[in-house]
Amino acid sequence: MQEFFDLDTYLSLDPSQLADSVLHCPECGRDHNIPIKNVISGSGLLQLFPSLIKDISENITEVVGVVYDRQIEDKIKRRVIQPLHELGLSLVRVPLGQKGEILDASTAIGDEAAASLPDSVPLLISAGSGVISDLTKWIATQRKIPYILLGTAASMNAYTSITGSMSVGDVKTSKWLDPASAVLLDTDLLVSAPPQMTCAGIGDLLARNVANADWKLASLIRGVYFCSVPYQMMAPYQQSLLSGASALGSHDPRQMKNLADAILVSGYSMTVLNGETSPSSGAEHILSHFFDFQHHIFGLPKNLHGTQVGLASIITSAAYELLRELDITQLDIDEIEQRRLSEVAIKFDHRRVFGEHGVLFDKVVNQKRIPDVEFRKYIVGILNNWNRILDDISPYLLPSETIRRALEEAGGATKLVDIHRTEEEVIQALLYGSHYRPRYTILDLFWELGLFPDIVPEILKRAQV
Ligand SMILES: [Zn+2]
Ligand SMILES: [Zn+2]
Repeated sequence: MQEFFDLDTYLSLDPSQLADSVLHCPECGRDHNIPIKNVISGSGLLQLFPSLIKDISENITEVVGVVYDRQIEDKIKRRVIQPLHELGLSLVRVPLGQKGEILDASTAIGDEAAASLPDSVPLLISAGSGVISDLTKWIATQRKIPYILLGTAASMNAYTSITGSMSVGDVKTSKWLDPASAVLLDTDLLVSAPPQMTCAGIGDLLARNVANADWKLASLIRGVYFCSVPYQMMAPYQQSLLSGASALGSHDPRQMKNLADAILVSGYSMTVLNGETSPSSGAEHILSHFFDFQHHIFGLPKNLHGTQVGLASIITSAAYELLRELDITQLDIDEIEQRRLSEVAIKFDHRRVFGEHGVLFDKVVNQKRIPDVEFRKYIVGILNNWNRILDDISPYLLPSETIRRALEEAGGATKLVDIHRTEEEVIQALLYGSHYRPRYTILDLFWELGLFPDIVPEILKRAQV
């Protein structure tokens, strides 16, 4: 493992150079580890497989398992299995899911696949995007065998993350899983993915600004740990992402290499924090997770993760704009206290809206609610430090207009109708998102300042969604 002490040197490294490294961070004093041995982007990467497998273990002479989604079986056969076969690898197919059904990264499906994997398979290759990567991470971790991730779409940023986003029952949970031995993003494969998947990847990356502003906000208000290095790691990629969005939407291969690198580094930004997702996941991800929850509970349509995150990034950026324009001299502390809902009232409301699932929401509220006796002092503390808070979070933010334009140019989702949600359903996500996920974000602050629910329509109007 290479060691780094100097931040400028570290920030100048490309995704391949960052693999298998540790930064002794001059900013926060912690070690930022990347335990993945090989990370490569570019074209023609399939031919690297025989030597990569040899690197992992000299002894792997048996068949290796290829995990993929049955929905894209024909494509995987043609573009992955056949070429790997021609390179002399013996492969066993591990198709998951059913044709005509959207596969979910659930622990149930992962456990079943892990249990039925033949003992003779010493290594897995994941050929797919988000769901297949998460399931492969899960299966390999259960079976304690190494795995290589081969991304088939630039649709999300978790390839180089050491966690997986798994459904346990109706709830998505982040799970610590064994790191991949290698991650490959082959641009020949990425350009052959459906364009909406590429747009989803752009959407997932555009979460960076709100996510880091939320993380900084939580550090200022709730005292959580913060380090700006993960944010800085993404700086070299953001400009090309914003200015190259239209070329990406049309799958220009040169831009695809930039997007692939951005996706790899964005995944690192979570891995360097031991899997803590704060630098890539704030209020915009909470909204996206809530849209998934609405799919599970109310049967509302499912969308790609990044598609939801991109649109939610426009909405939450607009929320930050309203927060920064707020005249706090107009806020009355007595009124804020009076408006605050009691725990009993909140529980009652959770039952009313979510029935039996309300318990889940109660738990999250319990976790982060400031006790009534401390609340006044807490709010006074926020208001007294208001300008400093705004000064400290502002450098991380982008105008909602900039995010919308990039998504528009790429051909991504910029309207509620694009993710099949009504205004009422998105209002529900804004109001209850903070009761669904424990992470502190701007959504909590709006409740605490007594600005929710009234300000929600204004947020959506500002976001022009
Ligand atoms: Zn640090
Ligand atoms: Zn994401």
